[in-house]
Amino acid sequence: MTLGVALVTLVGALVVLTIANRYQLWRLPKPNSWPRLLMYHSIANEAATGMNTPPERFDAQLAWLKKQGYVFCTVSELLTTSKPKAIAITFDDGFANNYHQAFPLLKKYQAKATIYLAPEIAAIDKLMTAQISEMQASGLIEFGAHSMTHLNLLQAPTDIAQAEIVSSKQQVEALTGVACLTFAYPFGRFGAETIELVKAAGFSSAVTTKKKIIAHLTAQTFTIPRISTHGAMDNIQFYVAVTRGRYKF
Ligand SMILES: [Zn+2]
Repeated sequence: MTLGVALVTLVGALVVLTIANRYQLWRLPKPNSWPRLLMYHSIANEAATGMNTPPERFDAQLAWLKKQGYVFCTVSELLTTSKPKAIAITFDDGFANNYHQAFPLLKKYQAKATIYLAPEIAAIDKLMTAQISEMQASGLIEFGAHSMTHLNLLQAPTDIAQAEIVSSKQQVEALTGVACLTFAYPFGRFGAETIELVKAAGFSSAVTTKKKIIAHLTAQTFTIPRISTHGAMDNIQFYVAVTRGRYKF
């Protein structure tokens, strides 16, 4: 081997290692039989942030998932399915743009999703009753609860936390006309008592913001982890997130 060839080989190996490290490709992909959940919030033609994904990015992500053979389920369906490559798209908070921007794309790909509503959340443009009704009637969307005002349940007094959890279930059921079975902890904050309150309120499952893919959701039905997304994540980061459960941003 000449010095030139050795140098080229060395540089090549460094490039491969740099990319592998950049995207954390050393994490092994989780088996396709393991169900996965993706977490989104806002879908809008605004700056790409941890809270907002531009519609064209969301479109590309749905197209890729469909092409790869992922099966779109609601969170409640995900708990009972045995299909491989099952995935639940979730949206927290109840942004109006979930109707204006995300819903047309979900219909385009016939992709089911679960939206966690906080009926009295402040400072966001919220989904309206007619929009919720239309999405519910489409058969594509499941609505879950996310407390009434989007408070930190871990810091709230027990009676307040209980009222927020119970009222949000009742309010979502009043909006949709069907049972509200799944809950998302605001800010991903919860404790042992929070879990008990959510169970006692009659929910069948609860999702967190813990970034992970697990083998069996039934092993932790009230602390289900989700894969977080960022509006500016590139295709490789999205691929790593969906296959590994987390990615490096
Ligand atoms: Zn939230």
